[in-house]
Amino acid sequence: MDIGKKIKEITDKLPENVRLVAVSKTKPNEDILKAYNAGQRIFGENKVQDLSKKYEELPKDIEWHFIGHPQTNKVKYIAPFIALIHGVDSIKLLKTINKEALKNNRVINVLLQFHIAEESTKFGLSPDEADELLASEAFNELKNVRVTGVMGMATYTDDEDQVRNEFRMLKGIFNSLKNKYFSGAEFFTEISMGMSGDYPIAVEEGSTLIRVGSNIFGARNY
Ligand SMILES: *Cc1c(COP(=O)(O)O)cnc(C)c1O
Repeated sequence: MDIGKKIKEITDKLPENVRLVAVSKTKPNEDILKAYNAGQRIFGENKVQDLSKKYEELPKDIEWHFIGHPQTNKVKYIAPFIALIHGVDSIKLLKTINKEALKNNRVINVLLQFHIAEESTKFGLSPDEADELLASEAFNELKNVRVTGVMGMATYTDDEDQVRNEFRMLKGIFNSLKNKYFSGAEFFTEISMGMSGDYPIAVEEGSTLIRVGSNIFGARNY
């Protein structure tokens, strides 16, 4: 199916407070422009080098999101322009982002990634780890990085109840962080959850940012 049509099909059904991040990783500029011409402005990439190249070559009103974990030594390449980094889960990375943001005279928005899936992965915080991080002096000294919400990935499974429960867990974590650390912060609003296979469930469970790739651009060949 046509990329532009896919964009319209997805965005037409989204509630007003939910935005689509079109995940264009591994895809050529030509495909991104098809989505752009259909009105899409937010794109997600997970490799610093690819992202920097696409940023240079493509229209400047694109809002670029980094959807993985940038290596600390590469943050400097995206710091001048990145709109949101989904998937931050350590004080080390936060400090690096803060330092590079400062050099660019910017405040960079990030989401804390939580481990909500059953699958084991080295990525993502537990609620206890997030408490430790957010209460720390090291975190509260950072003035050029702003945590605007949370991000998570559900288990890759056909079991819809399980996926729903995991998204619900992330929404619960968001609510509890909001109460504890961000009650007065009107910028703490984002819940990044839902991909090609599960975004309708994520939207029902309170997602504000869905990250959809293969559903729009077709399967990826790595
Ligand atoms: C690749 C990727 C996506 C998009 O995955 P699809 O299944 O192709 O929609 C979403 N989020 C993250 C973090 C990814 O790495």
